[in-house]
Amino acid sequence: MKDMNILVINCGSSSLKFQLINSKSEEVIAKGLCERIGIEGSQIAYTPAGGEKIVTVTPMENHTTAIRLVLNALTDEKCGVVKSLDEIGAVGHRIVHGGEKFASSTLINEEVLKAIETCNDLAPLHNPANLIGIRACQELMPDTPMAAVFDTAFHQTMPKEAYLYGIPYHYYEDYRVRRYGFHGTSHSYVSHRAACMLDKSYEELKIIVCHLGNGASISAVKNGKCVDTSMGLTPLEGLIMGTRSGDLDPAIIEYLCNKENKNVHEILNVLNKESGVLGLSGGFSSDFRDLEKAYNEGQEKAVRTMKAFAYRVAKYIGAYTAAMNGVDAICFTAGIGENNPLIRTMISSYLGYLGIALDEDANSKRGEEVLISTGGSKVKVLVIPTNEELAIARETVELVG
Ligand code: AMP
Repeated sequence: MKDMNILVINCGSSSLKFQLINSKSEEVIAKGLCERIGIEGSQIAYTPAGGEKIVTVTPMENHTTAIRLVLNALTDEKCGVVKSLDEIGAVGHRIVHGGEKFASSTLINEEVLKAIETCNDLAPLHNPANLIGIRACQELMPDTPMAAVFDTAFHQTMPKEAYLYGIPYHYYEDYRVRRYGFHGTSHSYVSHRAACMLDKSYEELKIIVCHLGNGASISAVKNGKCVDTSMGLTPLEGLIMGTRSGDLDPAIIEYLCNKENKNVHEILNVLNKESGVLGLSGGFSSDFRDLEKAYNEGQEKAVRTMKAFAYRVAKYIGAYTAAMNGVDAICFTAGIGENNPLIRTMISSYLGYLGIALDEDANSKRGEEVLISTGGSKVKVLVIPTNEELAIARETVELVG
């Protein structure tokens, strides 16, 4: 493996997450977060490996300023981790939406930037911010190669019957309305790890990956290719999430507009930001740590919410088992999947028909790579911590060569 430092950038509209990763050791050399970019009270949090987190409140008028601060921190005489920017071999950018244009990661050039721009209307909150992050990096590191790694790319192998909606076909042809799926880097990373853990060929396995975090999605990976996933044109479809509703009858939108005297935009805001487990629990919490505690105290708001969350995941597992005509491994990942044994137990309680039984001891672990099904289970259940930054760094190294 080539020995170089890769800067991984995940740029949001007012935030920027970064990690510097060494490609050979795969260790995180430094990481951090810029928040409130372009807003009063902006700050950068920077943590060098083995060091303390340093938080600096400083004005950041735009993303170029934020990236300049990141590069200054990384090369700082006292707390920096590299002597100069020459020690950063490449930059990997997380891009939310690659539409149908990108089925894999790619090196960034002007043509690629234009193609990403054409996907902006599919992710108006995210893609423009991602592009700003790339431009800002290019300005400050003009000679450093950069790669774009798309959240949607892994799902581009889905067959038409899985990605089409049951609406007039010309909406797909005219406006590209179809299911795209997100969290692709995580689904790819975790399904590959599953094959390694089981010591089987990736191309011969049927794997279901449950990425259960504040955003949640599930995918079916058959013979090394994604064949279905729960998020759609946008990340609103599918599972019940932290604050997103997931699947619902589209007629609810008009019904609620009339009842609440709100417009479509306002109701969509409710479906994105006030629904999911936050909404179901009556506004109690979107955080599963709070929900788990309240569930264990027998509080009805947490019981109904966690039951509905688990049921939806179990239903998708059933659907994807059918889609693949079987399943060899079911993987849990992301904040909830990695750290919440109760939810894993609740979901697995629906899977007796697959011969699944959980090993209670193994399932009590949090945040570790572990097989949690019993030796007798034909279908293996695994917990695999995701690592999207490492996956982006690996893709970037591969492209830079
Ligand atoms: P993510 O979006 O992947 O960061 O996941 C966020 C969700 O993971 C929240 O609902 C958290 O409550 C949950 N989570 C994260 N860490 C833990 C933990 N140590 N124990 C239980 N839940 C956790």
